[in-house]
Amino acid sequence: MAQALVCSPQVKAGISHCAQLAQQSAGDARYVVYAILDPTQEDPLGVYPCLPIYVGETCRVRDRIMEHFQTACRKTAKENGRMPHIRQLLQRNIVTPVVVLQRLDTRMDTVEAEIRWSQAFLAQGYPLTNLSPGQRKAMSADKIEQSIRIVQWDAPIDSTIKDGLRISASCDWCGRMSIFQPEEFLAYFSPKDPVRRIRQMASHCNTCGEPYEHAFVRRDEVAVAFTPHNYLDWEN
Ligand SMILES: [Zn+2]
Repeated sequence: MAQALVCSPQVKAGISHCAQLAQQSAGDARYVVYAILDPTQEDPLGVYPCLPIYVGETCRVRDRIMEHFQTACRKTAKENGRMPHIRQLLQRNIVTPVVVLQRLDTRMDTVEAEIRWSQAFLAQGYPLTNLSPGQRKAMSADKIEQSIRIVQWDAPIDSTIKDGLRISASCDWCGRMSIFQPEEFLAYFSPKDPVRRIRQMASHCNTCGEPYEHAFVRRDEVAVAFTPHNYLDWEN
C-alpha cells in the first residue's frame, strides 16, 4: 500500500485554484463532462493545452475535482486507473489541469456524453486511464450505443424524475404504446433503485403479451404514433 502523500502549501493552493477554475467554466450548468490533462505531455493533435488522460462527469464540479487530488494523496489510493498518474505528478509538485468539455442539463444526457467523449478521445489515440467499461477501450459503434443504454437504464429512478423523463413502452406487434411516469413506480421501488426495474416490471404488452420496446421520453416531447394499428382507418 502507498504512503499518504503530504502536499506543500503551494501545491494545495494549486489544487484549489484548479477546482475553482473548473467551477467557473461550469457556470450554472447542472452537470458537466470534464477531462483531466497531463501537463508534462503534449497533445499530439494540438486540440488541448496538454494531453487528456481521463474523462469524468459530475453535478458538483469543484468538490469532485478536489476529491480526485485528495483521493490520490491517501494511502488507500488505487494503484490502477488515474490515481497513480495524478499522484506521481503531485509528488513532482505538478497539479493536473482540468478542462470542462460540455455543460448539460440532465443526468441522462450527461452519462451519454461521458461515454461519447471518452470514445471520441480513445478513437483519436488519447491514452485514457478510465476504468469503467464504456471508457477504458475503444469500441465499435454498436457497442458504444449498447453501453450508453446500459448506463442510462442503470440511473436511479429519482434522477429520471428530476430529469423530467417518462418511459414509453411500445409494442411492435399490435402497435400499443403506453407512457409511464417513473413517479408512479415509487410505490414499488426505492428512489435509488435503477430505472431498469420499471422496464422489467412493465416488460410485456398489456394487449397482446409481446415484449415491449422501451425508450425515454422528455417531458416537453409529445408521444406520437401510439394509436394501435387496428384503430387506423386510412381506407375510409
Ligand atoms: Zn401488443
